[in-house]
Amino acid sequence: MGKLFFYILIALLIYWIIKSRHSKKDADISNQDSVEDTVNCVQCGVYLPKSEAIRQQDKYFCCQEHCDQFLSSSS
Ligand SMILES: [Zn+2]
Repeated sequence: MGKLFFYILIALLIYWIIKSRHSKKDADISNQDSVEDTVNCVQCGVYLPKSEAIRQQDKYFCCQEHCDQFLSSSS
């Protein structure tokens, strides 16, 4: 009887580990979909992820070169 209880406990533990891993994986996938935030370069208009954009004076640029071009042309 003690042995059977032990096996049930192991089975429950394995089930719990698999379940927790699955729910974590699902959360990661849904996060990637919702976090995707894009901005466009003020100089050339190309779209890129906000995390990769260069921010200058509340404007976004795809590269440092376009940032410099915009700042030199506006001043
Ligand atoms: Zn650009």
